[in-house]
Amino acid sequence: VTMAAIARHPDLASLAHAARAVGGPAIRNMATVGGNLFAPAPYGDFTVALLALDATVNIDDGELPIETFLAKRESNHAIITAVGFTFPAEGFRFLKVSRIKPKGVSVLSIAAVLEQAPDGTVSSARIALGCMADRPMRATAAEKALLGRTLTIDGIAPALAAAGDGTSPVTDPIASAWYRNEVLPVHLGRLLLG
Ligand SMILES: Cc1cc2nc3c(=O)[nH]c(=O)nc-3n(C[C@H](O)[C@H](O)[C@H](O)COP(=O)(O)OP(=O)(O)OC[C@H]3O[C@@H](n4cnc5c(N)ncnc54)[C@H](O)[C@@H]3O)c2cc1C
Repeated sequence: VTMAAIARHPDLASLAHAARAVGGPAIRNMATVGGNLFAPAPYGDFTVALLALDATVNIDDGELPIETFLAKRESNHAIITAVGFTFPAEGFRFLKVSRIKPKGVSVLSIAAVLEQAPDGTVSSARIALGCMADRPMRATAAEKALLGRTLTIDGIAPALAAAGDGTSPVTDPIASAWYRNEVLPVHLGRLLLG
């Protein structure tokens, strides 16, 4: 399945902006979901969205949680035949940061699935980061720090302080590891505050 096919699929409208984050139109006509799962940083933007969505990856002999798949992807010698996920009714957010718009390579990308209680506090959070390691990773410390907090400047402050925990960003011609770590809380803050 190509990024172009996802971007134009009527049932996947909420994911279209994540698919459109991959390259320009010519790239999206060729770039597949399967290939994106293997893309090393600074690529793999769509996989960041799939990681936040807690997708499953189907290979010949079964189904793997995407996190398990990503951790061992070098040793995968099977063909991926499907990727599955349940799209939340609301609360999915995606952001790609690049220097050249609209089709530049990522400085970083962030996807999140947030659930809020009736009082507005966060009841569950799943946050995925791209370019903050050699492959998409979870921001588990930031996720924990968001629980029970409101999505306000004060409420998200502990999550932003923890955003860089466990990261080891790539350094490439787009950005240094230092720069990526410096700007991660800024962009995570923008994503969380909407
Ligand atoms: C100019 C340019 C711009 C780009 N911009 C972006 C960008 O902005 N964001 C981004 O994320 N990526 C970008 N890419 C990288 C790449 O195009 C995408 O990541 C794309 O989704 C990779 O998919 P593919 O089908 O091209 O994979 P391929 O490059 O064909 O394959 C990658 C690897 O995955 C394996 N593979 C592919 N499909 C399967 C499968 N179904 N089962 C098992 N193994 C499989 C292949 O064997 C190979 O080892 C860009 C590339 C170029 C050239």
